[in-house]
Amino acid sequence: MEHLSVTDAQQRILESVKTLGAEPVRLEQSLGRVLADDVYANRDLPPYDVSAMDGYAVLSTDLALVPATLAVIEDIRAGDMPARTVHAGQCARIMTGAPLPAGADAVIRVEDTQQVSAEALPPNSLPQAGERDAVSLREPMFDAVQINVAVKSGNDIRRQGEAMRNGDAVLAAGTEITPGISGILATVKSAQVRVHRRPRVAILSTGNELEDIDDPVDPDKIPNSNSYALMAQVQALGTEPDLLGIARDDPDELAEYLQRGLKFDVLLVSGGTSVGVHDYVRPILESLGVQMKFWRVAMKPGHPVAFGVLPGNAGGNSKDTFVFGLPGNPVSSMVCFEQFVSPALRRMMGHARIHRRSISARLTHNLKHQPGRTEFVRVTLARDAGGYTATSTGAQGSGMLLSMARADGLLVVPSDSAGLAEGSMVTVQLLDGTVFQEDPIFKE
Ligand code: AMP
Ligand code: MG
Repeated sequence: MEHLSVTDAQQRILESVKTLGAEPVRLEQSLGRVLADDVYANRDLPPYDVSAMDGYAVLSTDLALVPATLAVIEDIRAGDMPARTVHAGQCARIMTGAPLPAGADAVIRVEDTQQVSAEALPPNSLPQAGERDAVSLREPMFDAVQINVAVKSGNDIRRQGEAMRNGDAVLAAGTEITPGISGILATVKSAQVRVHRRPRVAILSTGNELEDIDDPVDPDKIPNSNSYALMAQVQALGTEPDLLGIARDDPDELAEYLQRGLKFDVLLVSGGTSVGVHDYVRPILESLGVQMKFWRVAMKPGHPVAFGVLPGNAGGNSKDTFVFGLPGNPVSSMVCFEQFVSPALRRMMGHARIHRRSISARLTHNLKHQPGRTEFVRVTLARDAGGYTATSTGAQGSGMLLSMARADGLLVVPSDSAGLAEGSMVTVQLLDGTVFQEDPIFKE
């Protein structure tokens, strides 16, 4: 099989992987999940024209000459319904969010007014005899207020339906539930929301040399870090993986572990994917019915990375299982997870944005590169007057996990590059944070 480019390999994965079905969850448990349905507004908000300020509801035509003195005929709090119509020479004291009374067409904020004695009022500005009964007995009754500014009709009014209109689609399927979205869902009374199911992910490490986290320290062994770095990468995407442990480089033991892993939606196998005589992962997966889609990608680190599908009707499975054979080297394993597994898991969870967000940065040093493979260089980012700068974390050996752990991002060196000069603009895929984008960042 030919050596695929990174983008071709990603494409092959995304052609196979489908978004999972939906399940209901309580709103309180839904943060980070992805909406399976469009969500519609079930009322107008605000439900009627309301005041945007604490102040006075007035007729803007009363303010042709300011200051103007008006009779305060009612006191309207948020949650009250106005009882009276505001006529010329009158106004109502009104609180933020309270409904605008009939007659009024503008609100004056309290800062632009001052209290004056009711004696300052012209006699015809008080409510007419017949209207008096409609006024609540709340005190104070008929104050007067002096308005110091003129405003246009509509001033400081929030219009009915301006935040959302009954029947409008307010959220699209595929939206990730963030704190603001939780607020919107509560607004439309979605106490329960339908979200995409999260994939069940199994993680298996392979290798006779490995020692697991709770084993006693043996200086001749290599600590299993991949299971735990991969675990955390999966957790960071919002789903809890199952750790299957370590399989020895023994065909029977490996087959047993792989069979267990093939019952999940996704199986991540670390190590044993190269072409060494004891790299059994690929032949055994194939013997278990997995259709390999690729096992070589033209990238550095991460050359021996494999992807296959166990079709839904094989192995007693009702759904397809996707298998990623990740390189054993700790950095390669994490980098391959970022390029291949992360977009696949996010696609399965229903996200529209599946690729790590990337930024442009200026390289602070020369960078050597042999054409032929896309290279991912671990970098730290800083800012200066010209924007972001990217600096290599140092030696880039694929076993040097500390340099990955310290990186802010992965600088993508295009496969045809013959090296990058200090000062050139480069693309850096951000590793920290939770920001994703729709498109892959690099063209090959
Ligand atoms: P492999 O891909 O199996 O040839 O492994 C390549 C290198 O990665 C070897 O030096 C392994 O010791 C190392 N390695 C493999 N699996 C793990 C693991 N789970 N944790 C840490 N290092 C590993
Ligand atoms: Mg191995």
